[in-house]
Amino acid sequence: MSKPTTQTLPDIFESFSDARKQGFIAMKNLKEQGKGVVGTFCTYVPVELFLAVGLIPVGLCSTSDETIGEAEKVLPRNLCPLIKASYGFAAADKCPYMYFSDLVVGETTCDGKIKMYELLGKIKDVHVMELPHSQDKPSSRALWMEEIKRLKTRVEEKFGVTITEEKLRRAIKERNKERALLKKLYELSVMTPPPFFGLQQLQILFGTQFKFSHEQKVKELEGTISSITNEYENGKRPVSANAKRIIVTGCPTGGVTEKFTRVIEESGAVVVAYENCTGAKQFDRQVDESADPYEALCDYYLNIGCSVMSPNPNRLELLGRLCDQFKADGVLEMVLQSCHTYAIESHTIGEFLKTRNIPFMSLETDYSTGDTEQLKTRAAAFIEML
Ligand code: SF4
Ligand code: SF4
Repeated sequence: MSKPTTQTLPDIFESFSDARKQGFIAMKNLKEQGKGVVGTFCTYVPVELFLAVGLIPVGLCSTSDETIGEAEKVLPRNLCPLIKASYGFAAADKCPYMYFSDLVVGETTCDGKIKMYELLGKIKDVHVMELPHSQDKPSSRALWMEEIKRLKTRVEEKFGVTITEEKLRRAIKERNKERALLKKLYELSVMTPPPFFGLQQLQILFGTQFKFSHEQKVKELEGTISSITNEYENGKRPVSANAKRIIVTGCPTGGVTEKFTRVIEESGAVVVAYENCTGAKQFDRQVDESADPYEALCDYYLNIGCSVMSPNPNRLELLGRLCDQFKADGVLEMVLQSCHTYAIESHTIGEFLKTRNIPFMSLETDYSTGDTEQLKTRAAAFIEML
């Protein structure tokens, strides 16, 4: 492990919470050095294919309502805000990451995104991966393998590179190392009381994606884990031992939807883990380094437990495991407005948690701040009864 950073913990948290903005300059510099950039919208996209040949993957899921008005000139109002905001940033040319992306890789996760990519294709060079919606059929696996190979060919043609097996294996190793560190970081909250608030955990998990150097990222994460551990060992307890322990599940969170975590923590509870794409869904497992790299990527990505899969047993497996590991007092789900797959799956999640006697509530929100008070009232009432 590298030497503990000399930065204080507040400085470290600030550096992650500001990472999206700071990353704009880093990316501009990388572009000036001739680096290619690939924008993505979803955890299913196998970014190792880009990393293998020195391309920079960047998440384009917008997390602010700034350009929703622009998007609604083209898209319907009653559409998921993540889709509207993502398109809006491209249409208004307001997201530097979208601007710098030479290629945008989409996936057929949900209907809204599929149709949005058609429109986005008029503005950017878009490649859409055909994602199967079940994980247990041989035909699904065959299709996903074919799609991974098709993406490989597209990347090679677009950027004039060759993705060798050796390069791919190295990228898998590096990405696994980052996943392991992020998992180690959020697992610090297994302790009672946890060593940091859920908002700080979220800002690190979300901010890391905008740090583009593997070595730097590893160094910063090791330093952060070490600083948090040292402060805890020295008796620092920022969170009350009586705070109710909440797991957040549902749609991806970060940016404006930090409000979800804020209302929970302002009500006296602490978010100990995120099951959603900002957290464990992305970092819990490893890509098998001993297998054929394409087989390993195919299995790893296809088995992500997102509600777009039917059935979706892997979400239940992960959520159940997190509830045990983090000694959850309750689970709160964030569903973005008009996200049908998560909204419908709520019932299954509630029934599953009932069998474990874990209280559960699902709350719908969007990218505005107008519902913050209402969310707070409902979250506070839920925490009160735990
Ligand atoms: S929630 Fe599902 S569709 Fe959304 S980013 Fe995660 S895996 Fe992709
Ligand atoms: S949150 Fe739901 S509706 Fe929105 S992009 Fe993700 S899966 Fe689609």
